[in-house]
Amino acid sequence: MTEHLAVSSIRSCAITESVIANAMDVAAISDAPIPLRLAKDATRERAETADSGRTNLLELDRAGLEHFFADTLGEQRYRAHQVMKWIHHRHVTDFDQMTDLGKSLREKLAQHAQVRVPQVQLEKPSSDGTHKWLLGMDGGNAIETVFIPDKGRGTLCVSSQVGCGLACTFCSTGTQGFNRNLSTAEIIGQVWVAATHLGNVPHRQRKLTNVVMMGMGEPLLNFDNVVRAMSVMRDDLGYGLANKRVTLSTAGMVPMIDRLGAESDVSLAVSLHAPNDELRSELVPLNRKYPIAELMAACQRYVSRKPRSSITFEYTLMKGVNDQPQHARQLARLMRQFDNAVQMKDAGKVNLIPFNPFPGTGYERSPEADIRAFQKSLLDAQVLTMVRRTRGDDIDAACGQLKGQVVDRTRRQAEFRKRLAAQGVDDAAA
Ligand code: SAH
Repeated sequence: MTEHLAVSSIRSCAITESVIANAMDVAAISDAPIPLRLAKDATRERAETADSGRTNLLELDRAGLEHFFADTLGEQRYRAHQVMKWIHHRHVTDFDQMTDLGKSLREKLAQHAQVRVPQVQLEKPSSDGTHKWLLGMDGGNAIETVFIPDKGRGTLCVSSQVGCGLACTFCSTGTQGFNRNLSTAEIIGQVWVAATHLGNVPHRQRKLTNVVMMGMGEPLLNFDNVVRAMSVMRDDLGYGLANKRVTLSTAGMVPMIDRLGAESDVSLAVSLHAPNDELRSELVPLNRKYPIAELMAACQRYVSRKPRSSITFEYTLMKGVNDQPQHARQLARLMRQFDNAVQMKDAGKVNLIPFNPFPGTGYERSPEADIRAFQKSLLDAQVLTMVRRTRGDDIDAACGQLKGQVVDRTRRQAEFRKRLAAQGVDDAAA
């Protein structure tokens, strides 16, 4: 419990531009508003018009590409499909190498368009097969993407923002502060980089079988770009992943969960981490805006739209904080209520994540025996519960450890560093 009190000083939540742009009033959970300078889609526009006004084709999903070919180039839509396949199936970015396009079209494309992929600054392979990329963005920012191979599947963990504005107390990204939303190109570009490295061939040699939006950032606060990028992930001309193999994880942006249900059809994971409002508001400050009852109601609406779908509730286990028998009992009750409300067994599944430490954190991972006991208590209450085992330990690639490099526009990184210095923790290690 002492650790848990120790970190409460860093739980301040700076308001993000995207929060404001989405017209959410989070003043209640904010202590450091920053001025709104970027409109919601400004990041996208910037990415499209940078570099002499040529459109970055990675910004566009199939519909956008068809429009671009028809309106800007005066070409047929099947040409857009050919180009999509060159980019996402064969990982070709140079129009000259797109050999089934005529010379004049290739020249026209070079004049009006480009395929600009994120630049790899650093790659770190782990001894267990996990692979992490540090991708350079503009202005000194960098984000992280992780590939995790497992029996019969390969999962890519993708980032949605540079940093994160939500300041969950146990998350390394949360200590970094927030800079900006990633553009569609920067999100789908992470998949492109990994697929290229892996030699992934959609529909044939599929090494990349799943994508989870569980990297840096809150994906529902970058809604349009994330949904557009997920559409390319699921498109046959893109990465051809089934809906259920693309998972979006949210800290609980209630109105956006409804919008996601209306506009997309992906798997949903919800970061719960505590079974009651008092504790959850401390760990996930967004809970002060959208408490558990509202969150669970939104989850019910999400599942009701798509019969037979389920929601994964993520629960990071921290020693002495949220891992006690009474927490397991409360969580089991919440899950039972959820199943009853949507009238489906196993509509809510629990994914227990042993806490992954990072330099300067005040939390500790729960002991193995407590993790087992917590899982058993849920299983005994008929709640489907898995323990997510840490991968990529040696390269800091586990859940909550991604930090990249964030040119912070909030005060949070500086505050965290001050705290580290007071504790005598080496800044470079953090
Ligand atoms: N903003 C999204 C995606 C974040 S990361 C969300 O909140 O869901 C994906 C998962 O890792 C979340 O469930 C997050 O709460 C969890 N996580 C964050 N820090 C962690 C840590 N240090 N150890 C274990 N899990 C962590």
